Amino acid sequence: MLATMPSSRRPTAAPAPVPDAAGAVALPALPDGRRLGAHLPLGEGMVRAAERAHAIGADALQVFVDNPTSWRRRAEPPPELPAFLDRLAAYGIGPIAVHASYLVNLAGPADDFFEQSIALLASELAAARGYGARFVNVHIGSHKGAGVEAGIVRVADGVARVLDLADDARPGPDGAARPLLVLENSAGGGGGLGVTLGELEAIFEAVAARGVPADRLGLCLDTAHLWGAGYDVATPEGVDAVVAEVERRLGLARLAMVHLNDSKATRGSRLDRHQHLGAGEMGDATGLGRLLAHPALAHVAFYLETPGMDEGYDAVNVARARLLAAGHPLDPLPPEAHAVRGARARTPAA
Ligand SMILES: [Zn+2]
Ligand SMILES: [Zn+2]
Repeated sequence: MLATMPSSRRPTAAPAPVPDAAGAVALPALPDGRRLGAHLPLGEGMVRAAERAHAIGADALQVFVDNPTSWRRRAEPPPELPAFLDRLAAYGIGPIAVHASYLVNLAGPADDFFEQSIALLASELAAARGYGARFVNVHIGSHKGAGVEAGIVRVADGVARVLDLADDARPGPDGAARPLLVLENSAGGGGGLGVTLGELEAIFEAVAARGVPADRLGLCLDTAHLWGAGYDVATPEGVDAVVAEVERRLGLARLAMVHLNDSKATRGSRLDRHQHLGAGEMGDATGLGRLLAHPALAHVAFYLETPGMDEGYDAVNVARARLLAAGHPLDPLPPEAHAVRGARARTPAA
């Protein structure tokens, strides 16, 4: 759906950006120096990914440190890691976020799977330290039918255990600070936990009750998941209401990351189907622009997880995010944009 707003309701905006003499379009920066990046695949080479992040105007980067659909972890860091980090530093790209394996489920009732999940997430935190990553975000997981209450107890126990293990991990290169563990909200399919802000509040309270200091655990809000859960993040008014509820229930300091995605699914469908910005069910997506520029969110790092990162749509969506943040309406995307594959770049580093 490519709904456009009546022109009278369009936000007032600066003139649209025009190409300079060299043909490059200078895109508007986000306010207050806030950071916008994307989840880029590393499978074609890590240095190449760093070059790509710079070329598309990303100033932050999210990656997998290993195959996100395998329990096996590499024994040693990838050989390209030092060159990758040098390149990112030279370009001033950061913070680096590591997206944890999709297999981790801290919320389920099965003991063996729970123990495996704790071990895998702890190893992701240790590996992320070697990347100088500021964040490791993980899906909260599914209670697998055991119910929300039981799931919350399980997640809180799991988070406390993972952070204990992370304390024992060896320091990274140059004494790199330990990354922040960040829990990501769910769209609500398949027993997913952390669907509503009330559930997220209960999870963070249960973690705090286990003695975990507030500065050890952050929150990631994925806008496509909020949408699937029924929150109106398509409009500025809806976003302001969500931000106010996050502030009231959790405190905005908890919000470390936003995954900025439109959705192919209808609002409240509990489905998680990422889409290009302004090309999905969020209509003109002015709510995403409001989120990017919200005066209370200057400390938040924004990462795109939109389709076609391998096919050039990484640049398209970074540009569309910057235009939305500056209040510019977006042009419709060509039909072929809707044919690019999956929402997530699944390839780890070689
Ligand atoms: Zn996400
Ligand atoms: Zn998602």
